[in-house]
Amino acid sequence: MRKLTLGDVTVEGIEEAVMPFLEPKLFFPTLSDAVLEENRAWLEPSHLDPKTGKLLFAFQSHLIRTRHHNILIDTCVGNHKPRERYPFWHMTASDKYERSFKAAGLTFADIHFVMCTHLHIDHVGWNTRLENGRWVPTFPNARYLVADRELAFWLEKERSEPGLWPWITDSVLPVIAARQIDQVTSTHQFSDDIRLIPTPGHTIDHFSVHVGRKGSDAILAGDMIHSPLQARYPELGMRADHDSAEAGRSRRRVLGDICDSSTLLCPAHFTTPVGRITRWGEGFRFVEA
Ligand SMILES: [Zn+2]
Repeated sequence: MRKLTLGDVTVEGIEEAVMPFLEPKLFFPTLSDAVLEENRAWLEPSHLDPKTGKLLFAFQSHLIRTRHHNILIDTCVGNHKPRERYPFWHMTASDKYERSFKAAGLTFADIHFVMCTHLHIDHVGWNTRLENGRWVPTFPNARYLVADRELAFWLEKERSEPGLWPWITDSVLPVIAARQIDQVTSTHQFSDDIRLIPTPGHTIDHFSVHVGRKGSDAILAGDMIHSPLQARYPELGMRADHDSAEAGRSRRRVLGDICDSSTLLCPAHFTTPVGRITRWGEGFRFVEA
């Protein structure tokens, strides 16, 4: 992703992987063949892989640099993590993420804040890394900001069904043990230039991050939207949504708010990582910017 300059703040991508992910109809359970075919031509090749027929996804963090702080939004999948139920992500061992970090001129110790838009497996992985057989916070000097209701929800799941949510066990609990987590509300104003926007639905307390000021701003959207197909059809839910109807309302509200404005949208998984929103029938068009 190209580096964005928004007033005194910059935003860039820290990429972990780009890959064909899942079949569209598996990912979007209510997607019909007819609607998929109607949209295939414009989805290919950036968002739908013509070779495999699968959705093409990026896995990336966003790095915000202010005058005083380096802030990382989400931490991808991570390395060496046992994920038997998720073969894509089982025991991943890639140096790509660390190389992306180096290319940005930073070390893990330079991160002051980590913000987790939500606590799904592919957004918390690099929260921790393996050191002498133990999971320790990857970012030793960072405060990790997590939405309070999101954290409570996943901690309860981990307590009631231990072993079923390994990414909470190995990528969230060790950060709590290290006393590096700060709970915030999903409306938290971090600074003059950075505030959280509640975008619930995909998870119970998912947030997006608004960066910059009017006229020069962007929304780092996390998983508020997974594919530009969900801009055209904001109510199209994905398989792992906590509440697809609520996710659809969040999407329609945010896309409506920034439609035909200069505000940039940067979703976590788009291979065209920066865009603007315009009207498209009853929905919206994500236009690469
Ligand atoms: Zn995700």
